[in-house]
Amino acid sequence: MPDVYNWHLGRKMSYPYEEAHPRRQFAFVFNINRCIACQTCTMSCKSTWTFSKGQEYMWWNNVETKPYGGYPKFWDVKLLSMLDAANPGGQVWDAAVQNGPSKPYGLFNGMTIFEAARKQFGPAGHNHAIGFIPDEEAWRGPNHGEDAAVTFEDSYRKASAARPISAEGSALPEHRTWFFYLQRLCNHCTYPACLAACPRKAIYKREEDGIVLIDQERCRGYRKCVEACPYKKPMYRGTTRVSEKCIGCYPRIEGKDPISEGRPMETRCMTACVGQIRLQGLVNIDEKTGLWANDRQNPIYYLVHVEKIALPLYPQFGTEPNGYYIPPRWVPRPYLRQMFGPGVDAAIEKYVAPNRELLAVLQLFRKHQDIVFRYEIEEGKKVYEREIDYRGRKIPFTLYNDTVIAFDAAGKEIFRTAVEEPIHVRPAKHSNSV
Ligand code: SF4
Ligand code: SF4
Repeated sequence: MPDVYNWHLGRKMSYPYEEAHPRRQFAFVFNINRCIACQTCTMSCKSTWTFSKGQEYMWWNNVETKPYGGYPKFWDVKLLSMLDAANPGGQVWDAAVQNGPSKPYGLFNGMTIFEAARKQFGPAGHNHAIGFIPDEEAWRGPNHGEDAAVTFEDSYRKASAARPISAEGSALPEHRTWFFYLQRLCNHCTYPACLAACPRKAIYKREEDGIVLIDQERCRGYRKCVEACPYKKPMYRGTTRVSEKCIGCYPRIEGKDPISEGRPMETRCMTACVGQIRLQGLVNIDEKTGLWANDRQNPIYYLVHVEKIALPLYPQFGTEPNGYYIPPRWVPRPYLRQMFGPGVDAAIEKYVAPNRELLAVLQLFRKHQDIVFRYEIEEGKKVYEREIDYRGRKIPFTLYNDTVIAFDAAGKEIFRTAVEEPIHVRPAKHSNSV
């Protein structure tokens, strides 16, 4: 197998195809801290793409409650166990060797799904990635475990009249009783396992935006993609006997949606987000290195590479997913580290006390349907300053009412918004003005 460079892992890894990169890459950032699990994103995708016969169980976008929820059930714990069995005790990071955009999280010393398959099946093996096909029962409930919280046994032991469980459970920086919502869709990976596994070469990655698609004509429904995708995002359709997956709403990305008038627009799930947790965009790729080309004023680049506040989901799987998450600040760190890698602690600290620019950029989420390619900030007045208590330290924080301005692909202003939302007080002359 050829060696390709995976910057999430900070090293080369084996992959069945030679390294090749798109000019631009579809990418997104989700702020987990803000999600309310309203499932508006889920339903907007469903009502656009998967409402037909044979697609009943297909949820290309889903929002699950962690740690118990998952769609399909146990998709991640099952694969994590398989990787651990392939490399017992070896799935570890060396975070001390962080080094710029080519190694932002340090070095992953463990095995990816491709490397574990090589160990298990040998270099000439037919399976290029380890994985499994979920059974029918696993696909049955799209929101299994919703709102089910973890309560540490420890909490019960320590609980007393002076320190009841409920008070412990709500104390930051880490709640002892917790859950969080994880928003999931296809990550349009840089090294897609679905593509690697397809014996028909029916899956391809588009040069213009890195979106990964299944050619419905070529697919014969062998379900090798379902087995290999570590995120379990390709789904088999019994009525047509081929597999389907998220298409990144590519007509909208291309500016061909009837309402877009040629401008690249965000996907349906992104634009519907009630909690304003989603920001989707296109990042420029350096075709020689495969790294993101320096584009500091692109908000996705800024959040991922400059502030490193948004982290990939299970980077250790090895597909270099293009979805990034701002981790939830109340969740015990060991759980988050195994899910988002070693960058978790620094990311949460930044989120708790954001700097001036970061706070402004966080306002860009979900304000408009057009894709934001660049932002600028106009400085506003200082509102207040204070110290934020974080793990026994005081972090200085100053709030400025800056205005952030978003620009489209052509450099035209799309919208501007301020850090402080304007307050409108209605005159008390209507019956509902009380
Ligand atoms: S998330 Fe799964 S289906 Fe999507 S590109 Fe990656 S490997 Fe393929
Ligand atoms: S629409 Fe937004 S807030 Fe609602 S579930 Fe989806 S990601 Fe969460």
